[in-house]
Amino acid sequence: MPSPDALTPGILFIVGPKRIPKWVTAQCPSGCGTSLLLSLSQSRRPRWSVVLDWMGRPTLAPSVRRTDGCRCHFWLRKGAVEWCADSGHPEAKRE
Ligand SMILES: [Zn+2]
Repeated sequence: MPSPDALTPGILFIVGPKRIPKWVTAQCPSGCGTSLLLSLSQSRRPRWSVVLDWMGRPTLAPSVRRTDGCRCHFWLRKGAVEWCADSGHPEAKRE
């Protein structure tokens, strides 16, 4: 598993065997400087699924909601962050 220091903003790491990946880790897109660790394991709750399109862009489901720290709430679709209206991130309130 890469150390949090090795995470680059916007880059998602999928950890584990290719057929049965275990974790997704990424730097929090809010820019708060913390890293996210999401379980892909079938046996854990909550769990996420990640799908890569032909360009390798990840889509995560369901959305990521942080109940601590920056409280951001977002979807990752085709590698792009879509902020939810109830996110703690200021970008979510622009509209
Ligand atoms: Zn954050």
